[in-house]
Amino acid sequence: MKTVFWFRRDLRLFNNLALYDAIESGCKNAIFFITPTQWRQHNVAPIQIDLIKRRVVFLGDLLAKHGIKLHVIDAGTYNECVLLLDGFCSAHNITQVFANKEYEYNEQQRDADFISRADKHQIKCTFYDGDVIAPPGTVVTKTGEMYKVFTPFKNTWLKLHQDTHFHFRQFPQCFAEIIWQPPASLESDNSSEKWPVDDASLSGVIARFIDKKLVSYKDTRDFPSIKGTSGISPYLALGIVSVHQLVALVQQQHVDVLTSAKSNLFTWVNELVWREFYRHLIVAFPDLNKYKNFNEKYDAVKWRADDNDFTAWCEGRTGYPLVDAAMRQLLETGWMHNRLRMVVASFLTKHLLIDWRKGERFFMTHLIDGDLASNNGGWQWAASTGCDAQPYFRIFNPITQSERFDPKGEFIRKYIPELENVPDKQIHFPHEYLAKMNKKEVYWPAVVDHKAARERALNAFKV
Ligand code: FAD
Repeated sequence: MKTVFWFRRDLRLFNNLALYDAIESGCKNAIFFITPTQWRQHNVAPIQIDLIKRRVVFLGDLLAKHGIKLHVIDAGTYNECVLLLDGFCSAHNITQVFANKEYEYNEQQRDADFISRADKHQIKCTFYDGDVIAPPGTVVTKTGEMYKVFTPFKNTWLKLHQDTHFHFRQFPQCFAEIIWQPPASLESDNSSEKWPVDDASLSGVIARFIDKKLVSYKDTRDFPSIKGTSGISPYLALGIVSVHQLVALVQQQHVDVLTSAKSNLFTWVNELVWREFYRHLIVAFPDLNKYKNFNEKYDAVKWRADDNDFTAWCEGRTGYPLVDAAMRQLLETGWMHNRLRMVVASFLTKHLLIDWRKGERFFMTHLIDGDLASNNGGWQWAASTGCDAQPYFRIFNPITQSERFDPKGEFIRKYIPELENVPDKQIHFPHEYLAKMNKKEVYWPAVVDHKAARERALNAFKV
């Protein structure tokens, strides 16, 4: 059988079981489609596209060393991918295609289209669940339904996996090295260059986190001025790193991590399970892919269409320092700390009463780790419209969040140097202080009054 491996958001050689099985079936060709039109339609951030391109160049080189040729093909949309892959299979007499599943609706449609074409030409398609530990549909209630609350989902997830000792499969025996040249379409604008794409650097990033930071993750993860989280979300979003690999590495040092779910160490694995929860949700409730509220009750909320407020939020000039510093972190780096994602999403949807879909899209167009399932889950959680979401009456106070999680204003000063000389106590809402110092002009006035905005949100959600 002549085999091709189809790379998508699984841009790795390490621990890629679908690829290993393809290689064991004699696979000497792999394929990757550049799909700019589809990426635009999905609001994929330019910085993420750059990371994809840089990683595909790395992958092409590495595959060539193992005797596998990576064909990089310009396609535009997923429809074109299907036609081009069909053509590629005919031209190369391919009889077998291996790939890892993607769970978003359009991606599933693309695969279903390809499978029905492949069927007609007797091409066998094998798709793996390489992006998750528990494939969607396997963590269900006693009546076979998807959980609508995270904790019982996590408990069942744990029951299924706590006796598993995750390990790595050996890379299969490969073929003689070939020569590979990256095509012009993979040229990078280097916007993502701060994020390494080679496996040696990535292993270092992961090892440093697991060796040194995992034990204190629970205590440090909410403080944006501390590098207390792993920072590997861009790699998980593109499948450059696999969740199996991460759990296996944690187990190497903490063998009982899955059996002691109440321990501090599990806190980090718990986040990986949230990632799985959101993936399961978009499969069980496909309307989430169409940006519908999970909880239809909130379809009645009348969102405000205030372009000035929305622009102030996008540009980091709401007059609330923590919110503004967070938005500037996103604009400057393409990444934002999780605590801040919660704060700014709450501010947009509650304080400004602007539709979560606008924030969701803005995040997607700027995030290096943009991921439909987690982004949708996070936004609907903050907006209270989601599955197991924050109740609508719990509205983050951006000033007290700032006092708690950036007590000395270190993070704020990093991104809002205008406030550098404001004392720690006043930095969280510096307007009175600046007025007293006759320096009102150094910072934006607040777009809304916290108390009034809170009342407005409560009334809108009650309706
Ligand atoms: P760590 O704290 O080290 O966590 C390890 C991994 O677990 C992360 O890399 C991520 O893959 C996963 N994870 C952590 N927290 C969550 C979570 N709350 N939900 C789902 N998975 C999680 N994450 C994305 O990967 N892409 C997004 O587009 C995205 N959008 C978000 C939007 C909003 C409004 C919110 C509140 C959260 C969003 N998240 C998103 C989740 C989370 O903020 C990021 O995964 C996290 O900040 C990434 O940093 P890290 O890799 O250092 O995470």
